[in-house]
Amino acid sequence: MERDYDIIVAGGGLSGLVAATTAAHVAKQKLRILVIDRNPSDDQGKKTVSGWVCGDAVGAHGPDYFKKFTGIKYGKPEIEHFVKGVIAYSPDREASLKFTEDGYILNRRLMPQRMKNDAEKLGVEFVNEALLQRVLADNGMVYGVEGTKDGKPFRKTAKVVIDATGQASVLRVNLPIKSYIEKTIDRNDLETTGRYIMEFEHAKEDITFFDPNYCVIHLDNILAPGGYAWVFPKGPNKVNIGLGVNKTCHDERNRKLGKNQDLKGLIDEYVKLNPVLKNTRPSQDPNDKGNSYGTWQVSVRRQNDCLAANGYMIIGDAAWMAKPLDAGGMGPAFFSGTIAGKRAAEAVEANDSSEKFLWKYAHDFMLERGLNTPGMEIFRRMLQKIDNSQLNYGTRHFLSKMDMDKITRGEHPDFSSLDKIEMMIRGALNMKLAKEMKYTASKNKSLSTLFKSYPDTPDKFPAWHSLVMKEMQEAFKRYPF
Ligand SMILES: Cc1cc2nc3c(=O)[nH]c(=O)nc-3n(C[C@H](O)[C@H](O)[C@H](O)COP(=O)(O)OP(=O)(O)OC[C@H]3O[C@@H](n4cnc5c(N)ncnc54)[C@H](O)[C@@H]3O)c2cc1C
Repeated sequence: MERDYDIIVAGGGLSGLVAATTAAHVAKQKLRILVIDRNPSDDQGKKTVSGWVCGDAVGAHGPDYFKKFTGIKYGKPEIEHFVKGVIAYSPDREASLKFTEDGYILNRRLMPQRMKNDAEKLGVEFVNEALLQRVLADNGMVYGVEGTKDGKPFRKTAKVVIDATGQASVLRVNLPIKSYIEKTIDRNDLETTGRYIMEFEHAKEDITFFDPNYCVIHLDNILAPGGYAWVFPKGPNKVNIGLGVNKTCHDERNRKLGKNQDLKGLIDEYVKLNPVLKNTRPSQDPNDKGNSYGTWQVSVRRQNDCLAANGYMIIGDAAWMAKPLDAGGMGPAFFSGTIAGKRAAEAVEANDSSEKFLWKYAHDFMLERGLNTPGMEIFRRMLQKIDNSQLNYGTRHFLSKMDMDKITRGEHPDFSSLDKIEMMIRGALNMKLAKEMKYTASKNKSLSTLFKSYPDTPDKFPAWHSLVMKEMQEAFKRYPF
């Protein structure tokens, strides 16, 4: 059957633009590639009505990976500010963990404009203001997308569809063909997050609350129950400040404290508590128009265990790729977009968009990035169960420099210093915490070993997946919601 396009990318946010650009580059611009997004062109990549909601921070490794394949390098103004890493503070701020890695603080409104421009230069076409509702499928094979545009039915066909429509993807939820892709996510694997982009004056200097060179994270299960709060510098007098919570932990925290604080109430209190920020106001920069306050949900589980079906691949947030510990999803969006874009181009070239052919994307992503996320998902669940005093103790005593280097690379810490420390642990609760940390480290080992043998063909998936689920279910029983 004739198709309108070779590749359709549904969703023109970060991961979709990376995929379309990579495919165009790899295929030397010979393919017809279409990106479809519900936003007008000026609002490319806008996630929700409340804006391009994000902490805006990304480690250099994600964009660097994309650059390796396309030669595209970002700079100002889409990168607003450069940082040297992240510092996480314990609830009492007596202990800190420094994760050193060059990072960029993006302007998420300008970034998609730059990326769209790059894609168009490579011949990628765009349809904006089209709201997609489902994929088209026949004979167990996806062959296009449909929805509405200007109030009329809208329909386009392609050899490969890449779904980059974000964590709430209706294309994934409504996928009509047989596939191993999970369609829906557990409520407790989502964080409700929100943030301001603010200008401010300095009331005083205190790098535990604002550091122009580091992204500051506050671990605190009262302030940000089941999540964390952040102050990311966007300039000497500009900040991205916000927090994320797990709904169950949030409800429980309110019940315990006899409070009824919603997410916005928590964020406003967090801004007020910051002793550095004075005369705060929503950013007046025209480049932040429509983006100075917003909330959205981000997934914090391992990525979908399956990423490809006949004629269809999921990438970025549509595949729940934000990392379980810090909800960083832009790095995985760069990796998955690049790998999937490359595979889509190869599929068109080989005239084969079967699940079996596209599977290599899933396999390569798992080995490149995905293998550490299941262990991190369990580690996240364990952390959501502990209180501030244990967080204080754990932050101060349990992590070595080696563990931090591992976390920076998205890997699970070994807690190798725990054996030495255990002798001096004070209190039964800290002993229990040490035991739990060891448990998560050992679970991580078995899970990352399993993910290292991610099936190279779809027929091997069910047997492999039942082993994964056995490991995961055992841990979920230990850390239930
Ligand atoms: C508050 C918050 C803070 C965060 N902080 C960070 C951080 O500091 N660092 C980090 O790395 N990650 C962070 N993340 C996660 C990060 O923002 C995402 O992982 C990233 O945006 C994923 O990109 P994406 O392109 O896959 O999805 P999205 O950015 O969600 O893009 C999806 C695109 O598809 C379009 N679309 C959706 N549905 C349809 C439809 N039906 N039809 C047509 N178009 C559609 C959307 O409008 C959008 O343009 C944060 C997330 C939140 C919510």
